[in-house]
Amino acid sequence: MRIARFVDPQGRMTFGVIDGDGDRSGWTIEAIDGHPFGRLSRTGDRWAYDDVRLLSPILPSKVVCVGRNYAAHAAELGNELPKEPMLFLKPSTSVIGPGDPIRLPAVSQRVDHEAELAVVIGATGARKLTREDADQAIFGITAANDVSARDLQKSDGQWGRAKCFDSFCPLGPWIDTDMAYDDVPVICTVDGQPRQDGSTKDLIFDVPTLISYISHVMTLLPGDVIITGTPDGVGPIVAGNEVSVRVGDLELTNPVVADE
Ligand code: ZN
Repeated sequence: MRIARFVDPQGRMTFGVIDGDGDRSGWTIEAIDGHPFGRLSRTGDRWAYDDVRLLSPILPSKVVCVGRNYAAHAAELGNELPKEPMLFLKPSTSVIGPGDPIRLPAVSQRVDHEAELAVVIGATGARKLTREDADQAIFGITAANDVSARDLQKSDGQWGRAKCFDSFCPLGPWIDTDMAYDDVPVICTVDGQPRQDGSTKDLIFDVPTLISYISHVMTLLPGDVIITGTPDGVGPIVAGNEVSVRVGDLELTNPVVADE
């Protein structure tokens, strides 16, 4: 099932289920009551997919991020492989949806794309999960771009500024509740040019390990997002670019603009 959050033609914001195969011109989206966790109830209100505007598919209470989780990416930035998952957070205010602009802060001269598979949590109060129980906490998979001010990441010595500007966490375009996560292409293009082409089979710490590890630190709430690290090939984006992250058949595209 494909779950999106959208604005309908009357300007109402809701979650919905995308229906349809093949060409998108035939797709529809049907609103659901409330949030998509637990038992899902369709309202019968349905629109053409092309007539709604998609938002970020979820508003997480936190985005938990994993650094250096692909060996080739750790190497390209000259870093050792981590012995344990390296966690950091992005604030909820960094989240934007498909088509929303990534705004480059004037204080940085080097902002990079990072294509990542994102796990959306569905469980209520997931805490101290074993690796074996981790799957039960997953609601679905979406695509993420862990936009990073690389110069500030280096000069600050920690990542609380570089990863956390408004608009630095594009998510979407929807949540796929059926996607297997263990061998999924994770691809980035900028203006159609290939930049990153990895697969989650190369994750150092796999998804169940990450969920278990993180849930021993902080309770995971429904809608929380874990972004699982980026493959090699990270590189700069500049104003005027269009950056696309592809995770399986999910494609998340955002324009890049200079912040005013
Ligand atoms: Zn990242």
